[in-house]
Amino acid sequence: MKLLEGKVALITGASRGIGRGIAEVFAAHGANVAFTYLSSVEKGQALEAELAAYGITAKGYRSDASDYEQAHALADAVVKDFGRLDILVNNAGITRDGLLMRMNKDQWDAVIKTNLDSVFNLTHAVQRTMLRQRSGSIINMSSVVGIKGNAGQANYAASKAGIIGFTKSVALELGSRGIRCNAIAPGFIETEMTGALDAKVVEGWVESIPLKRAGTVEDIANACLYLGSDLSTYVTGQVLSVNGGMLT
Ligand code: NAP
Repeated sequence: MKLLEGKVALITGASRGIGRGIAEVFAAHGANVAFTYLSSVEKGQALEAELAAYGITAKGYRSDASDYEQAHALADAVVKDFGRLDILVNNAGITRDGLLMRMNKDQWDAVIKTNLDSVFNLTHAVQRTMLRQRSGSIINMSSVVGIKGNAGQANYAASKAGIIGFTKSVALELGSRGIRCNAIAPGFIETEMTGALDAKVVEGWVESIPLKRAGTVEDIANACLYLGSDLSTYVTGQVLSVNGGMLT
């Protein structure tokens, strides 16, 4: 059964990793997919053709989610190209790790701008369309680190915790208009973002996870599928942890 037939989704940061996985699962479930990339131009362009093979309409846009003007221009272009917008996945994110003692202002600003400003920018940009439709599902990519904190990631944890407060507020503001807003808090997921980590550190983490494995991009994409589809029409303002039991 296809769960997103006829819906239009916009996914930020889909050239790689989790965003790419979400785009593929959404396309497989019949959604027409608009997605963004920034530096991975070739990968972004290749994805467009890959998604179209599912028999849906797919279009990639090179757009910086951290830029307010670009985010608004993107939302306008997507509505012009696809006619409507049912699901927004605010997935784009970066890390600039370091202990607070060594963290400089650039590291702080880059992470807050890309991870948190982007969520405001895109949500703000799509709300008019969703209000007009009186429906929509907004999914924001937080992190286990936004719930529990992490040494060496004060900037990242602050951005991901900020996303949770934002998500709950938007859910309260827009619920009466049929617009839902939820966050997903992934645990340790194997992507390029985590690929740079020391193998010994990773081994230790995996050992501490009750399900004894790292998560896959499909694990997160399937949670997005649930929140984007009509299976979750009574779910809003929630943080769905997808972490193998890490916080239990
Ligand atoms: P990734 O492999 O590093 O991919 C990041 C994606 O974000 C890329 O497609 C990148 O596009 C895009 N991006 C970065 N800055 C952007 C910007 N300003 N505008 C538009 N796109 C931008 O990361 P990932 O592991 O898939 O993570 C995806 C999301 O999940 C992030 O929000 C991350 O914080 C969150 N998360 C990940 C994990 C994990 O374990 N991996 C855990 C918890 C939460 P380009 O390459 O084209 O620039």
